[in-house]
Amino acid sequence: MSSIQQFQMYIDGKFVPSVTGAQFESLNPATGKPWAALPEAGLEDVNAAVNSARNAFDKGPWSNFTGTERARLLRKLGDIIARDAELLASCESKDNGKLYREMLGQWKYIPEWFYYYAGMADKLQGDTIPSDRNNFFIYTRREPIGVVAAITAWNSPGLLLTFKLAPGLAAGCTFVVKPSEHAPVSTIELAKRFEEAGFPPGVFNVITGAGIPGAALVDHPGVDKVAFTGATQTGKKIAASTAKNLTRVSLELGGKSPNIVFDDADLDVAANGAIAGIFGATGQTCMAGSRLLVHEKVHDALMDRILARTAQIKMGNPLDADTEMGPVANAPQLDKVLEYITVGLQDGAKLAAGGKQDEKLGPMFVMPTIFTGVTNQMRIAQEEVFGPILSVIKFKDEEEAIAIANDTRFGLAAAVWTQNIHRAHRVAHQLRAGTVWINAYRVVSFLTPFGGFKESGLGRENGMDSIREYTETKSVYVELTGKPRDPFTLG
Ligand code: NDP
Repeated sequence: MSSIQQFQMYIDGKFVPSVTGAQFESLNPATGKPWAALPEAGLEDVNAAVNSARNAFDKGPWSNFTGTERARLLRKLGDIIARDAELLASCESKDNGKLYREMLGQWKYIPEWFYYYAGMADKLQGDTIPSDRNNFFIYTRREPIGVVAAITAWNSPGLLLTFKLAPGLAAGCTFVVKPSEHAPVSTIELAKRFEEAGFPPGVFNVITGAGIPGAALVDHPGVDKVAFTGATQTGKKIAASTAKNLTRVSLELGGKSPNIVFDDADLDVAANGAIAGIFGATGQTCMAGSRLLVHEKVHDALMDRILARTAQIKMGNPLDADTEMGPVANAPQLDKVLEYITVGLQDGAKLAAGGKQDEKLGPMFVMPTIFTGVTNQMRIAQEEVFGPILSVIKFKDEEEAIAIANDTRFGLAAAVWTQNIHRAHRVAHQLRAGTVWINAYRVVSFLTPFGGFKESGLGRENGMDSIREYTETKSVYVELTGKPRDPFTLG
């Protein structure tokens, strides 16, 4: 137990154990060994965290901060994160096995969210509404929604949390955060940076643990909004729970995104994009390009390129600079990935690469796996695997490509590979997905709305509009004459 680092939760400005003293361990998937121990929160801890966020929102100093003052703290937090990006990235890589260089890239980029929304914190203007009656002056106010419960997935905990935190804090909300039990450490480390930046107690609280804390937070009457990133199945349960109190909710959920290669595409570039789409982050990303739709004329030429590059992918320790694919992040995820390899074979798809664990590296390392001869009705084309499995589907023409691409319950992302500018935009407009890339894959930015059509989610994160997810509009009517009106008629 001595080599295991101990972490505590962050409630009301203090680092604390759980009330019961219970703990759980976070495993490093690359070594298979526990590396961190954290408190297992129970209901009392959830209540304490929500009460703290509630007090900070209702009566703490934060509630009187102007947008300008909030912006100052957000910028300071961004600077501290930029300074400590290496440490935050290494915690995440140890927790979820993703490449250190990918995590470092994310943590170096995360400050931009805090700077961008800091710029918005003092511009949350309402409107003056021209009245249809001369005796009224009417205006609107944009007010913070209140206490936000942010619940995040294990694949990119810091980035997914930042999508919620930066606009929410800019708007004046307070937070209780529950990271996944598979990758909780970077969120606790972030709490130390909140303290250093000078945020008042209660603005940012972190509780850790599996099962009870997430569900209890969602049900809690002291929570005004749930901002969730995770599986579609979990998102549906959360939507049902929040309906009881009409708690506001935004959901960033799963995907089965089509990566569509037309016969006029640059095949070298498209092959590279297909690899990035499915084997980047070991396929453990919501926007994975897990369905590769290829025009039948270029199918073999494209697959030659993809298979050649796949055979060269360097798997290994995610902390090493030249590693390209790390392990699957945790045991339940490994079971799921292996099950889908069996399902693909049973459904009659042809295994063109991978399909097994790497014996030398260990059981958590699943080789990059490609199924060809897939039809869109197969389970490996319809269900999210969240792992390094690519399903390759042939199409005959543009109409069929669009029909296959949209024949899914998901709608998170899609990509179009073509050198024909007319086709590029025409197809992009017909795809039912929240993000479409043209001749690119896996690009996100603080400037651009991100979210899902259909069962991929509800609401948008990032960009100007996402701040609306953290504010309520209030209309104020001011009577100008001071004279009594007929009390029995409207208006
Ligand atoms: P899960 O849905 O299993 O878990 C996500 C979070 O929700 C965890 O913190 C989990 O906590 C918590 N949780 C689980 N059940 C409940 C509940 N009933 N009430 C409240 N909270 C609950 O997802 P994964 O962590 O396995 O992440 C993978 C999924 O996330 C994939 O489907 C992926 O597509 C999606 N995702 C979506 C993104 C997007 O932006 N659209 C980005 C990244 C991932 P616990 O620790 O208890 O499990």
